[in-house]
Amino acid sequence: MRVGIDLGGTKIEGIALDGSGEVARTRVDTPRDDYAATIAAITSTVVDLERVAGTRGTVGVGIPGTLSPDNGLVKNANSTWLLSRPLKDDLARALGREVRIANDANCFAVSEATDGAGAGADVVFGVIIGTGTGAGITVRRRLLTGPNGIAGEWGHNPLPWASGDENPGPLCYCGKRGCVETFLSGPGLTRDHEQRSGRRLPAIEIAALAASGDAAANETMACYEHRMARALAAVINVLDPDVVVLGGGLSNIPRLLENVPRLWGSWVFSAGVADTPRTRLVRAAHGDASGVRGAAWLW
Ligand SMILES: [Zn+2]
Repeated sequence: MRVGIDLGGTKIEGIALDGSGEVARTRVDTPRDDYAATIAAITSTVVDLERVAGTRGTVGVGIPGTLSPDNGLVKNANSTWLLSRPLKDDLARALGREVRIANDANCFAVSEATDGAGAGADVVFGVIIGTGTGAGITVRRRLLTGPNGIAGEWGHNPLPWASGDENPGPLCYCGKRGCVETFLSGPGLTRDHEQRSGRRLPAIEIAALAASGDAAANETMACYEHRMARALAAVINVLDPDVVVLGGGLSNIPRLLENVPRLWGSWVFSAGVADTPRTRLVRAAHGDASGVRGAAWLW
């Protein structure tokens, strides 16, 4: 049996898979800003899944970040209480077995490229947009990792073709200003709408307000789509993926899938002939379960 854990900024998802498919699933809140409680929550999630499944399994964990190739400590996590922590060793000790850890967006990309919305595509750019903006790249279903463990990390490049009021942009946890993540993450959308309307709302509620005809929310969403189109056009110009698969909480906003590909052609490189980009933007087939399935498959 395989246990997969997706450690998110707000939720910890867990799944148990055997040869015939899913045998158990669970979800708990992430103890934010508390490393010891995060270890305990992951451990009890594994114990719960194994009790339901009636057997012990391998454990793979998707995290919002990666392990340093130098010292194995967590780096690049927007869940900043994980940074510089020996997560792999601490989980192995708590669970009494070796665990495998990979970037959550990489787990997501593998899951969607294997039997999800990117199945059959040569190059898949799998994006997770929620508390952060991560991504993973698969080429013929094989994950691209890279010597720094950061392949696909588009969220910490600057927002491309930024206009005057987008410069220098908000401060990011990574230490830079104006990162794509500061604009496209859920908290980025919330901040932008608060500046526009004075109302502080979760991203999904802003999208729902826009759908019900609220003018300010609609303006926030249109601005967000424009930014996402620019950010993904820059990715298309480098990687030229067949499919961009959108996952994470904000992938549940249907208008993004319609409007962003309508806009991104303005920045995708096509001088002389105005080709319509052939890259497709699609929603994850496995929804919230995609990251956790990819984590289970780390073994
Ligand atoms: Zn950043």
